[in-house]
Amino acid sequence: MIDLHAHTNCSDGTLSPAELVTEAEALGLSAIAVCDHDTMLGVPLAWEEHRDGLQVISGVEISVEFRPGTFHLLGYHFDPFHPRLLEFLRQLQRWRADRNALILERLEACGVTLTENEVRDLAGDGQIGRPHMARVMVARGVVDSVAEAFQRYLQKGGPCYVAKRRLRPREAIELIHAAGGAAVVAHPVQLKLGHEALCGQMEAWQRMGLDGLEAWHSDHPPDMAAGFAALAKRLGLCVTAGSDYHGTVKPKVQLGVIPGAPPEDAAILEPLLAAAERWR
Ligand code: AMP
Ligand code: ZN
Ligand code: FE
Ligand code: FE
Repeated sequence: MIDLHAHTNCSDGTLSPAELVTEAEALGLSAIAVCDHDTMLGVPLAWEEHRDGLQVISGVEISVEFRPGTFHLLGYHFDPFHPRLLEFLRQLQRWRADRNALILERLEACGVTLTENEVRDLAGDGQIGRPHMARVMVARGVVDSVAEAFQRYLQKGGPCYVAKRRLRPREAIELIHAAGGAAVVAHPVQLKLGHEALCGQMEAWQRMGLDGLEAWHSDHPPDMAAGFAALAKRLGLCVTAGSDYHGTVKPKVQLGVIPGAPPEDAAILEPLLAAAERWR
């Protein structure tokens, strides 16, 4: 069993990289990819912890400019110390810090005063984002749940939402390739495209060098996932499977549990790693 999409507390998951590795080993998984939002700090930490039997693959999940839905690009099996990729992710962190300050200002204007320190305490050494603000709001009793915090304040279109600065798809794909990794579209359901538009869009990204498609994901019912897998196969793209595990903040998603994913790990892993090797 493999899980190629797991978050740690280096972004908005709740387990540390070491705890994630321990959990994956306890579940008997054969491979995981540590895929945090906009940071790869968790990768070397997970590598330090892991023992034989579990393969830990470097990963990252970068938010990319796209409409109408959400485009998250996954990078796999790259060098997590690659200077250009590191510098770009540092730039993203600076943009994120500016954005967090703006969100806190808007929350204040809505009558919800959170301090930066409170939010940082909860995020620890990891990066801060809207989920951390939502959790502070729950702890304070401002809202009953993280979902309510998003619904009333933080979601896209909500009164306290501030857009993130993003790369264009071509730039993000090239950056992952420069670091020697494979570039994969995460949870394609979130692109919010119909079948025809999705096919055309995947072909366009493939011309930019895209390597694969995350067909199996917690947000994809098995029949939808099978459709994505068939599309990837038709285009000659890699297919991947990931739960998008976040720990206790998304309690319905479990590590290693991916609806409908095929049992043959090697059929997923080998083409993906080979695709990454082509960019070395
Ligand atoms: P940020 O990086 O600050 O834009 O936050 C993105 C994260 O917020 C995502 O990883 C989701 O886990 C979470 N998120 C986004 N929209 C919602 C929502 N409507 N309800 C709950 N969580 C959400
Ligand atoms: Zn997340
Ligand atoms: Fe995502
Ligand atoms: Fe994710």
